[in-house]
Amino acid sequence: MGSRNERRHQNLVPLAALISREMRSEKVEKPTLRYGNAAQSRKGEDYFMIRTDCQRIQGNPSSTFSVFAIFDGHNGNAAAIYSKDHLLNHVLGALPRGLGQDEWLQALPRALVAGFVKTDKEFQSRGETSGTTVTFVIIDGWTVTVASVGDSRCILDTQGGAVSVLTVDHRLEENVEERQRVTASGGEVGRLSIFGGAEVGPLRCWPGGLCLSRSIGDMDVGEFIVPIPYVKQVKLSSAGGRLIIASDGIWDALDSEMTAKSCRGLPAELAARQVVKEALRTRGLKDDTTCIVVDIIPPDNSPQPLPTPKKQNKLRALLFRKRSHDSANKLSKKLSAVGIVEELFEEGSAMLAERLGNDDSSSQSTTGLFICAICQVDLAPSEGISVHAGSIFSMSSKPWQGPFLCADCRDKKDAMEGKRPSGVKVA
Ligand SMILES: [Zn+2]
Repeated sequence: MGSRNERRHQNLVPLAALISREMRSEKVEKPTLRYGNAAQSRKGEDYFMIRTDCQRIQGNPSSTFSVFAIFDGHNGNAAAIYSKDHLLNHVLGALPRGLGQDEWLQALPRALVAGFVKTDKEFQSRGETSGTTVTFVIIDGWTVTVASVGDSRCILDTQGGAVSVLTVDHRLEENVEERQRVTASGGEVGRLSIFGGAEVGPLRCWPGGLCLSRSIGDMDVGEFIVPIPYVKQVKLSSAGGRLIIASDGIWDALDSEMTAKSCRGLPAELAARQVVKEALRTRGLKDDTTCIVVDIIPPDNSPQPLPTPKKQNKLRALLFRKRSHDSANKLSKKLSAVGIVEELFEEGSAMLAERLGNDDSSSQSTTGLFICAICQVDLAPSEGISVHAGSIFSMSSKPWQGPFLCADCRDKKDAMEGKRPSGVKVA
């Protein structure tokens, strides 16, 4: 069966493949990145990271990719600093070696999930309080992959003025789905009661009183505040675009449209400063306020398509193809407004079994041993527990199939799903 299908594929190239080949050949050349950042500190708990020298294959400059990230800490800065120092390595450590660019990008969403959970687990093992939001942006060629927990938003401004949000705000106040998940996992959601019983402020999770439903750290709040990121991956058109990544100090003052509009036409360095200035003008300095602007610019010699709005509508119908196959796709409407940005992946589930999937090709190390999909330790043959064992998803998959988790990570998974009370407690 397999060989017959393969032969058929060799003879007949589907139209979709042709179009995608054409699009790819248009974009062989990498875009140029221009970026800038600005910040105003009030509590000293916002951190950011800019790395433009990462390589998929060590020593190969053509495999260079960039990382831009914001960490907005709360209850101290330890979790933000720890994540800034370790998250990238944990994500890269979860990627199989020797992948080509396409495979690498395909493996990235899962590696991001593993890297976020590992970072959370290792930070918690240090016994320190504090937590942090993370918005982690990886740019490889024309493909932008964003993973986020918390409410540090990342927006994309493309030609023609279409603004789309590449993150989801994990705020209990605004996210009904997350509220239900936290409650079902044993958390209590309510407002702060002041003297006299009056309720004030946004919805918070108790114990702890956190307004966010996802973060890294926060071990004193409860394991149902999970570190599993919302991940979105898009491929820009050869016209490029502008990313604006910022902490809630910006988003509490300005909405996405206002933010994009406030700095259009300015180079990235000035744009970041302008966004912070605009937020302070609107709301004053009430919180740490950090902003990174990244312009993804077509290489000089490539023809720059400047479609009129009418033509762009036609192009949208032709070129906006969606390859994501996940069920709950709430943002597709917003994104289709962007025009010819291609959505490659979107998933926001808080269930580890769903996020690590069924593919067990990466669960075997080079030595032939199985490895934990989260912390990447070698597992003895009797030690690994399938991520699907005992879960409601085991109906459709085989519990003896990977990916596998070590006993520690399996405990962590159960705790996040509310199947056991949080194991580790702050002394
Ligand atoms: Zn593990």
